[in-house]
Amino acid sequence: AGTLYLVPTPIGNLGDISRRIADTLGAVDFIAAEDTRISIKLLNHLGIKKPMVSYYRHNSETAGDAVLGRLLAGESCALVTDAGTPAISDPGEELVALCAEEGVPVISIPGPCAMVCALACSGLPTGRFTFEGFLPMNKKNRRAHLESLRGEQRTMIFYEAPHKLAATLRDLRETFGAERRVSLCRELTKLHEEVRRCTLGEADSHYAENPPKGEFVLVVEGGCPPEEDGMTLEEAVELAAAYRAE
Ligand code: SAM
Repeated sequence: AGTLYLVPTPIGNLGDISRRIADTLGAVDFIAAEDTRISIKLLNHLGIKKPMVSYYRHNSETAGDAVLGRLLAGESCALVTDAGTPAISDPGEELVALCAEEGVPVISIPGPCAMVCALACSGLPTGRFTFEGFLPMNKKNRRAHLESLRGEQRTMIFYEAPHKLAATLRDLRETFGAERRVSLCRELTKLHEEVRRCTLGEADSHYAENPPKGEFVLVVEGGCPPEEDGMTLEEAVELAAAYRAE
């Protein structure tokens, strides 16, 4: 069988195309793209001409079978999305699973990925984290999802669209409290790149008044571990009284 290459593309800065990314796009038999109109611009920039097929969320079942068929016949394919790393809050997950089932080799090429870029510069603990991607659209489901994260101690990473940022910050503040730290990473790798490190309370107030522009990754500090071995104030008072009585 041929090989499926997962090829990341820039999240805003064309300078982030590595030699290996360009070489792979130039070497494969065909490219499966989330949006061929977007990817053609990148290929033109690189001076690469390649046959392309569409592979996006809503045609992933039929298109996935077609891509798999060609891979099994020995062709090699590069999967690209509009920006960033395929299969990370982007099409690709099912295709990789199909390839794994059928014994087709998959090679993941490292490169631009908004969540890694944001986590690394967040200033928050990076040792343990949970990537949450996009929160559910529906308000009730979004609240329920956040509720399930209430006790989360690891750093949490969320993707969010600018028009939903203010509502999401309000929900995050309600769930985790106004004092919880957050890093809002905006327009990473682009001209107006900005990382705002503040509390959820400050972020909520700021963006409620200043409508946000651009693309965002939110990195939220994890919660404190419960004080299992500690005692309540009442218990401490009782213990002190017992000592005094002795
Ligand atoms: N697969 C992509 C990746 O790995 O970077 C993510 C694709 S997802 C559909 C798009 C989301 O990624 C945006 O809504 C935003 O949250 C985040 N994002 C992409 N580019 C970004 C950038 N330059 N700055 C900040 N966030 C970005």
